[in-house]
Amino acid sequence: MSRKVENLKRFGETVNAMAQGREIFWINPKGKENCFSKQITQEDIDLAEARLQRFAPYIRKVFPETEKSGGIIESPLRDIPTMQKALSQMLGVEHTGRLLLKCDSHLPVSGSIKARGGIHEVLKFAEEVAMHEGKISLEDNYEVFAEDHFKAMFGKYSVAVGSTGNLGLSIGIMSAQLGFDVTVHMSSDARQWKKELLREKGATVIEYQDSYQKAVSEGRKAAEGNPTCHFVDDEGSLDLFLGYATAGKRLAAQLIEQRVTVDEDHPLLIYIPCGVGGAPGGVTYGIKKIFGEHAHCFFAEPTHAPCMALGMITGLHDEISVEDIGLDGKTAADGLAVGRPSRLVGKTLEMLIDGISTIDDHKLFRYLKALADSENIWIEPSACATFDTVARVLQHKEYLKMYHLESKIKKATHILWATGGSMVPSEEMQQYYDKATSTFLR
Ligand SMILES: *Cc1c(COP(=O)(O)O)cnc(C)c1O
Repeated sequence: MSRKVENLKRFGETVNAMAQGREIFWINPKGKENCFSKQITQEDIDLAEARLQRFAPYIRKVFPETEKSGGIIESPLRDIPTMQKALSQMLGVEHTGRLLLKCDSHLPVSGSIKARGGIHEVLKFAEEVAMHEGKISLEDNYEVFAEDHFKAMFGKYSVAVGSTGNLGLSIGIMSAQLGFDVTVHMSSDARQWKKELLREKGATVIEYQDSYQKAVSEGRKAAEGNPTCHFVDDEGSLDLFLGYATAGKRLAAQLIEQRVTVDEDHPLLIYIPCGVGGAPGGVTYGIKKIFGEHAHCFFAEPTHAPCMALGMITGLHDEISVEDIGLDGKTAADGLAVGRPSRLVGKTLEMLIDGISTIDDHKLFRYLKALADSENIWIEPSACATFDTVARVLQHKEYLKMYHLESKIKKATHILWATGGSMVPSEEMQQYYDKATSTFLR
């Protein structure tokens, strides 16, 4: 299907380097504009947050691990001083400022950032169905969603999604819990344990010996023409995006709790791994809505699947795929194994993303091990894609100059967004850890 681009030169040096599989660090010349889409407002994000609040009593009831947070699915924001030292040594930079880890790897219910967008979208569908069936009104206590007659009602409806794994987990677990008939279309890079876990929860899992795009399009096809089926479209869903964007205000509250100042003199720099772009795009959108130009947001992708960077640099967004420049899209970062960016996010974030870095796979394992050794925090390879982006920014004199950060950078707060990992079985995690040593010696 892909038509390989014959003359890469017209896209410039960076795309050429990407086509050769080299690491890049791209600064978005339009990042400075900080321009938001008129279609997605703070009010939309607040409505999503209000929905999550309405469902909190239900979530608390059916997922007791959310008891302490009152049914709100949120993750800790942690200082990682020992890792900060280790990273400075590994990268040969002074990490001026404070380095924090946003532990979405340990989000309750599904153990990845997908618990934000994915669960929001399923809850929104459930709310629509319940209202349509006359079972609920906005003022009710949503604990009733746990009752058997709700489950019976949802059994007449279905949910479908295509995924590399983590979105499938999030959609599958939440949908099955509510009582929906849920089907997860999994791409070949999805891990076996994720499929098994989903089947255990009662989801139907269909496996493809093919890429993420294929899994999504098969899911879309299966849902088409079925009015009682809701298809979660990872390549363009606004409800996913809004669920991710609620992270903005929540992060702002956590920063206040941790006595972190963000203003003209105290920049906030955020680093998020990127697959199709929905999760990092939504989170960035929410954060920039709150902090505006004081926040700088960078994405990180694997060298074999840099779809967002390619879409942004060429301006072609979802009209170009990594296969078009001769890349195979294969990476150990299974959550990031995506060849074509979201049709929603590229255009929406065109004037908001500050930059994108790419990383060689073997480094992911080294960072995974370094974090485990230094802080005893275990995250999956995908979640480690950002760990050298901090250094890239600190060493990028032009970037610092462009934003007058040269002196302020010492007072900056850096947040590495750890996007997944707490549900990875320990034997599998040990294998990742062991790979750090074997690939390091290579
Ligand atoms: C999905 C995922 C991402 C990226 O999210 P996208 O919406 O695909 O860009 C990053 N890390 C992990 C662990 C993920 O599961």
